[in-house]
Amino acid sequence: MDDCVFCKIVSNDIPSYKVYEDERSLAFLDINPVNIGHTLVIPKEHHADLSDTPPPLLAHLVGVVQKIAPTVAASVNAEGFNLCMNNGQDAGQVIFHAHLHIIPRFPDDGHSLWSGRSIEEEELSKTADAIRKEFLV
Ligand code: 5GP
Ligand code: ZN
Repeated sequence: MDDCVFCKIVSNDIPSYKVYEDERSLAFLDINPVNIGHTLVIPKEHHADLSDTPPPLLAHLVGVVQKIAPTVAASVNAEGFNLCMNNGQDAGQVIFHAHLHIIPRFPDDGHSLWSGRSIEEEELSKTADAIRKEFLV
């Protein structure tokens, strides 16, 4: 896609610190890392987000994450990492070319996970119904 930053990284029109590449995917360092070692894994083909990415390609990307994440983490002496994918503007997606974030984590790095809130049983049950009616009989 002509105006896509990540397509331009794939075509080398924009430079990046590549750390992994194969026929279908590329991984490179995030330009504004949450933590040192923050790496993005993308398909070479342009797909906007999770829903737009064909499942076999998605499976390939997850396989790449599984292969490289331990090395990414070890390279910055991290013992853990978060794997995340933002989908949609409301979820913080800024680049609409599907990508998985590998974010190395450190003790006391100043980041935290989402905190849960308490919820009424009825709201849980209603929400489960709304989802499961698509999938379960
Ligand atoms: P999103 O919020 O869409 O899930 O994440 C997009 C990520 O891409 C951000 O973490 C941002 O720092 C990174 N990013 C944006 N533009 C560039 C770029 O030109 N090069 C690299 N390496 N990363 C970028
Ligand atoms: Zn693209």
